[in-house]
Amino acid sequence: EEKLEVLSRTDPLTGLINRRTFDEILDNELPHYHRSGEVFSLLMLDIDHFKKINDDFGHLVGDTAIQTISLACESNLRMYDRMARVGGEEFCVLLPATNKESALVIAEKIREIVSNTPIKTCNGDILATMSIGISEVENSDTDHTKIIKRADDNLYKAKKTGRNKVCA
Ligand code: C2E
Ligand code: C2E
Repeated sequence: EEKLEVLSRTDPLTGLINRRTFDEILDNELPHYHRSGEVFSLLMLDIDHFKKINDDFGHLVGDTAIQTISLACESNLRMYDRMARVGGEEFCVLLPATNKESALVIAEKIREIVSNTPIKTCNGDILATMSIGISEVENSDTDHTKIIKRADDNLYKAKKTGRNKVCA
């Protein structure tokens, strides 16, 4: 029973929680925010040119890239920061008790660490970068959709304006 529960809540490749679990956590975080006024922020992260990594080195290296990068992010975040794999090469982090300004500092830290983290291939190590979008919770957020959309929009902006960058 417990094993099935874990499997349904996590992503097998990275061990991170999955999108469904993340949405649930966000929806639980919102009432707390509306009661206490204590803001939280989200990071939406996407590996740049991931398709090219897959095309150039194969899917196994693509998987290694996802594992290496998610571990680099997770081990440089606090225990209570919740990171999820929400798509193929896309991740989301919930930063409790964190405003947009601090989220920027954290996102910049993660971006920099990832850009310096080697990914192993049989032809030597490669480097990858990430684009990151930020959103801070707002009064009009009643469920997870709008706050995720704002982070997504900022991620799109980071991609459009050159990648390997953070937009808030
Ligand atoms: P800093 O690394 O420049 O981080 C500045 C602020 O960004 C931190 O202020 C915190 O509000 C936020 N922040 C940075 N990284 C994270 C993160 O992974 N998760 C979350 N939730 N917030 C983060 P704060 O807490 O006052 O810390 C001040 C300074 O103390 C930090 O400056 C850093 O130099 C040091 N520090 C605090 N906790 C740790 C830690 O667990 N490990 C290390 N290596 N340094 C820490
Ligand atoms: P943790 O809070 O779960 O943080 C895990 C890792 O996230 C830290 O490993 C660090 O790599 C990164 N990290 C978290 N917060 C910050 C930050 O504000 N700035 C920077 N630059 N990195 C951050 P690390 O440094 O090996 O610390 C392991 C654990 O030791 C931390 O787990 C925390 O429980 C404790 N710790 C370390 N430094 C501090 C500190 O300055 N203040 C407090 N309150 N705890 C600390």
